[in-house]
Amino acid sequence: MASKKGNLSINSENMFPIIKKWLYSDHDIFYREVISNACDAVTKIRKMDMMGEYELPEGFKPRVDVVLNDKEKTIKITDNGIGMTAEEVEEYINQVAFSGATDFLNKYKDKANADQIIGHFGLGFYSTFMVSDSVDIDTLSYKSDAASVHWTCDGGSDFEMSDGDKKEVGTTITLHLSDDCLEFCNEYKAREVIEKYCSFMPYDIYLSRENEEGTETIKASEKLDSDVVIEEVHPEKKEGEDKEPELEYKIKRRPQLLNDTHPLWAKTPKDCTNEEYLEFYRKVFRDYKEPLFWIHLNMDYPFNLKGILYFPKINMEFESIEGTIKLYNNQVFIADNIKEVIPEYLMLLKGVIDCPDLPLNVSRSALQNDGFVKKISEYISKKVAEKLAGLCKTDKENYDKYWDDISPFIKYGCLKDDKFCEKMNDYILFKNLDGKYLTLPEALQINKEAEEEAKKEEAVDENGNKVEAEVVDDKAEDKKDEKEEKEPRIIYYVTDEQQQSQYIKMFKAQKMEAFVMKHNIDTPFMQQLESKNEGISFKRIDADLTDTFKSKTSKKVAAELEEKEKELAEKLKKALKNDKLAVKLEKLKDKKVSSMLTVSEESRRLADMMKMYAMNGMSMGDFGASEGQTLILNANHPLVQYVMENNDEKNTSMICEQLYDLARIQNAPLDAESMTKFVERSNEIMMILAK
Ligand code: ADP
Repeated sequence: MASKKGNLSINSENMFPIIKKWLYSDHDIFYREVISNACDAVTKIRKMDMMGEYELPEGFKPRVDVVLNDKEKTIKITDNGIGMTAEEVEEYINQVAFSGATDFLNKYKDKANADQIIGHFGLGFYSTFMVSDSVDIDTLSYKSDAASVHWTCDGGSDFEMSDGDKKEVGTTITLHLSDDCLEFCNEYKAREVIEKYCSFMPYDIYLSRENEEGTETIKASEKLDSDVVIEEVHPEKKEGEDKEPELEYKIKRRPQLLNDTHPLWAKTPKDCTNEEYLEFYRKVFRDYKEPLFWIHLNMDYPFNLKGILYFPKINMEFESIEGTIKLYNNQVFIADNIKEVIPEYLMLLKGVIDCPDLPLNVSRSALQNDGFVKKISEYISKKVAEKLAGLCKTDKENYDKYWDDISPFIKYGCLKDDKFCEKMNDYILFKNLDGKYLTLPEALQINKEAEEEAKKEEAVDENGNKVEAEVVDDKAEDKKDEKEEKEPRIIYYVTDEQQQSQYIKMFKAQKMEAFVMKHNIDTPFMQQLESKNEGISFKRIDADLTDTFKSKTSKKVAAELEEKEKELAEKLKKALKNDKLAVKLEKLKDKKVSSMLTVSEESRRLADMMKMYAMNGMSMGDFGASEGQTLILNANHPLVQYVMENNDEKNTSMICEQLYDLARIQNAPLDAESMTKFVERSNEIMMILAK
């Protein structure tokens, strides 16, 4: 072929400076582009062999060699793939590759934000010019009559094509690095970049240095044909050994294999061992803390998607959770944490996803509106939910063990993704006060027995004699069976086991269960569950006082109690100088409790919300601290009886104040002023005792 000069006349005059500047942050992707082209070329030649159009030589081993030369300032990438004929270079490189770059320029020349590209832009081969002054291609096509081609381009708009001298089928791309990009022919840098993008590419990738000065010593029996021997070494015979030691060779350091062509995710899950999963985790994420467990995604339908998601062990209080999901396209690394493809809540995990069907040569903003990408995201979410549900059903013991660590992901997922929430609904766990884990359906049923028990209790009259259970409404009893299904159910929860210990004690005495919900996420999470499950509600353990805690009384006693309640409320309001105070008189089963406070769930949640707004500097007007509070006084307690029966100003008033503070202190810390008064008053009361 006569030497041919041509002109890449595609308004490329200013192309290089723009592209260089523009892709600056992603400079290193040229390694990925050229190596993945090389792998594609190998795939193509193997296909030709399989189709009988070409016969691969005996012992053919697909491989890509990256050879650095820091003296010459070159990087050579050689593959034993399909190669190109002169026509193909003309078509694929001179026309296609360059037009890809033109498209790219047209689309992005005004947007100086490199984050918007994902990398693949049909830019491929062209990206080499980001780091090179000139690039050569030497290639020999597999076709029997093909001649080798040499192509060179100095990074301007002109190229040159001539006969080449390549003898083996395949392609070598030579990059003559520009002076500001010499780091890429540094062995350590090259290794780092190639490992980042190419760790799992499907053919062996070797790295070596052309001007290699390093050596290694091998046994004669280990010598390969490709080894370059520098000298023979005759080891000395060791004392006590009678056999002559084996001959050794000092050889030029061999090319280093950089990748694993069979990543674990591509294997069938049942063929993978735990040790393999752990090793893969350590290698890919450089995290030496063991993950709790993992999910291996392996689907061919409705699209091809494989991956492994690891659930790390986390400590909510001291660490922020930050995961990494690495996205691959046919074993070629694309990027970390592409939120369009991976559901947001799963970004807290560590994992790899390989989806060959992803349309990646588009910008991120296009991914956002891509229906297919959305489906992938939904599918991943669905699979994760199914696996978790399966774990809960078949290995509850371990699921229990993992729960504290995985619940932040799950709760966050439930908030972010309604479908995930629906799928996980019955596999959400609640930890009771004894550290036992119950599912939502179990938690909803758990107090039923205690409540039934309480209903069966016999009522007593004012003298404590048993009477017929007049308070039970017979008609309601008849209707009970029909109602059962839709009966609203309440789950009681505790946010602070110490502060709420008095309520916990009462709950335990009645064999009632409550669950620990103390993280910030629990408040919105409970609301989400309430909205997803008709008729259920969550109430903090201090939100109300159900019949379970009250002694059953005859109708007559109940009426009397109501009468006394009014009187008592007046006394308290006066003593506490608080007109708004809500007071209830009850006969509590626990005779040691004199007073307690309930705070209605709605007003407490509202108050919590206000506090949050206030923290963000927003004023929400006045919201009384005592909103929704009710002071419960136990008619069975002598102190309360004393207040009811006596009118000696000083003592009753002091007892009223003390009863109120005692109730409050069991519920929440007192404010400074109340605390001071409480301490003073307590001292005063003890003084009376000491007299
Ligand atoms: P893309 O890979 O997206 O098609 P590139 O610019 O990377 O775009 O490459 C353009 C074309 O050049 C490829 O499609 C391929 O036909 C050809 N090509 C590039 N590198 C090689 C190679 N190492 N061996 C054979 N053909 C190659």
